[in-house]
Amino acid sequence: SVRIGILEVQGAFLEHKIALLKAKEKLQLVTPIEISEVRHQSHVTSSLDGIIIPGGESTTISLFLKRNNMVEPLKKWIEDRNHVTWGTCAGMIILAKQNENQKIGGQPTLGVMDTDVSRNFFGRQVNSFEADISLSDSFLKVCPGEKTFHGVFIRAPAVVQTFSPKVEVLASLKRADMSEPVIVAVQQDNVMATAFHPELTEDVRWHQYFIERVYKNKQAMTGT
Ligand code: GLN
Repeated sequence: SVRIGILEVQGAFLEHKIALLKAKEKLQLVTPIEISEVRHQSHVTSSLDGIIIPGGESTTISLFLKRNNMVEPLKKWIEDRNHVTWGTCAGMIILAKQNENQKIGGQPTLGVMDTDVSRNFFGRQVNSFEADISLSDSFLKVCPGEKTFHGVFIRAPAVVQTFSPKVEVLASLKRADMSEPVIVAVQQDNVMATAFHPELTEDVRWHQYFIERVYKNKQAMTGT
């Protein structure tokens, strides 16, 4: 079976779990998938094949990780080629090498993606909005079909700079008030991040994408 852990700090566990199970149904996978909560250092083990770092508030999440001595174990886990990681919203901020938490001297983060992420890119006034984003070819190769996805953005971050050619754009957002498309989903090796909340929409293609990556990676690493 394949095991996926969801970091549970602020309560997005259930939504992600439901979306994962729905995605698994759609993929018609025969291998069982087990989903568990990650709340403690001892939960960050090699028995997990994938971990989701959900949205919430990045300062709260990084403080939680620090207090529970999970920063280093989680970083090590993510850097292990056997594992696949996905951060959504605040998760995207925490995975970035650079973000405004660090710039203002705040909590250290995991820093595993060569990205610079702006915490509240769309501004404080625009607390939340919904918009269709464009999916890249690398996403569509894994999940063929419709080229757009309805994204729910809640005080959302965005990738403002990338530091390595290894960072691939998975989705971008065109806005009338911005000259360039905004990068709202990226991947680098076995780590992916989305600025929006795919667990809050009925469309589970991002969960399908993640599950596919977890399965393929496990197959590639173990030959099973
Ligand atoms: N901008 C928020 C932060 O700084 C993230 C918001 C979210 O996860 N919905 O953590």
